[in-house]
Amino acid sequence: MENIDSNTLWSQAVERLRSEIGNEDAELWLRPIEALRIEDQVLHLKVPNKYFSDGIRDRYQKRLTAIFKDITSLDIGIDYEISIDLRNRLPTTDPISEPSPQSDFSFREFNPRYTFASFVVGKSNRLAYATAEAITKNPGTQFNPFFLYGGVGLGKTHLLHAIGNAMRQSFPKTRVLYTTAEEFVNEYINSIHHRSTDDFRGKYRNLDCLLIDDLQFLIAKEQSEQEFFHTFNSLFDSRRQIVITSDRVPKEMTPYERRLVSRLEWGQVADITAPDLETRIAILRKKSEVERFYVPDEVILFVASTVKTNIRLLEGSLIRLRAFASMTGTSLTVDDAKEILKDSLPHDVSAPVNIETIQRLVAHKYSLDIKDLKGQQRTAQIALPRQLAMYFACVMTELSSTDIGRAFGGRDHTTVLHGRKKIQKMLEDDPFFMELVNKLRSDIQAVEK
Ligand code: ADP
Ligand code: MG
Repeated sequence: MENIDSNTLWSQAVERLRSEIGNEDAELWLRPIEALRIEDQVLHLKVPNKYFSDGIRDRYQKRLTAIFKDITSLDIGIDYEISIDLRNRLPTTDPISEPSPQSDFSFREFNPRYTFASFVVGKSNRLAYATAEAITKNPGTQFNPFFLYGGVGLGKTHLLHAIGNAMRQSFPKTRVLYTTAEEFVNEYINSIHHRSTDDFRGKYRNLDCLLIDDLQFLIAKEQSEQEFFHTFNSLFDSRRQIVITSDRVPKEMTPYERRLVSRLEWGQVADITAPDLETRIAILRKKSEVERFYVPDEVILFVASTVKTNIRLLEGSLIRLRAFASMTGTSLTVDDAKEILKDSLPHDVSAPVNIETIQRLVAHKYSLDIKDLKGQQRTAQIALPRQLAMYFACVMTELSSTDIGRAFGGRDHTTVLHGRKKIQKMLEDDPFFMELVNKLRSDIQAVEK
């Protein structure tokens, strides 16, 4: 059995595995794979992309090596080589083909306000913008898939719609679909419920361009995630363009999220960061121009230097100023702006918050009393919220761990550090807990503003 060639071994193994995992998965995962050679007891496989190697490693590697052992009585490992000539193997037809008759569902309109022309380009979003625009000229080629990261309110959805608008304009028949990961999940679950998964797949796998917003919603929804990978793969394989956004930046992701994302981000990756002052000023100028609303430069400068992190808030400020100006009919001054915006100006997310606020909100969240957090009881119901509050105190205030310990009923600073560490560990392991903590953190910030 020692001289079995790689092709024979691979095809025998695939056939065996097929009977275990079913035809659909076998076709999707295993058929596109080519066996190259066996070298030093390692079978080298040629895979189209990292999505495959990761997926096979996770799902089938164990089983495959067992099957190899069965066939050859040897411990044969697997190594993956990503084929770089994928494009040559793919059809060379114009990626925008005529829609097939069965896929004539209605495509949602894109927001006409979200265009490339209305998008202000600065250092913080230049690469994202340039990539998005390049995609509309040559979808499904160089920048595929395109993964776009960035915090909330920084223009990710705007760019997705801009891609959609531009593609509709240059290729009117193009099947370009925008959806959020959340809608995707809901639609998929519904289709299972109504036994219409074939329609669902028909819809998503017959697109020229799929724009998926807010991927973070897919996290920890295993079945939908699997379905998404199938969709992704089937589109990618036929050279359709895929664009994905997520507001979870890599360094804030749990290992689980990292893994999910690393399978999708081998194409082009860009991030959008918070705009600098110059860009914020340019955005305010542009928006006020579009709205035909005159705002004196000094007011623009005031707003731009106060609202720093979120473009949606920047727009919101402008809307409030306009409402005021249209009521009074006078020209705005900086003092007016200060007064009008004083309640809505965001609390700078990096500014320290009050430890009492943290204790109050955490206690409330867990239906406890602040006294409990400061008290001596060590039951799990109290210990976890206490540690969580300590964690927030460490990362959101400027207090030292000694001060924090003092604020929690005179505890030692090592107790505080231990609590912080424990919560950090939980955040890494548990995406649901992470959601809860993120939500609570923004509640604390909101109270503090
Ligand atoms: P995200 O999806 O990243 O949370 P959005 O795309 O919804 O953010 O953007 C929030 C608001 O800010 C939208 O109204 C959008 O038009 C506007 N916006 C974001 N970035 C820019 C930009 N560079 N130029 C002009 N408007 C922008
Ligand atoms: Mg968005």
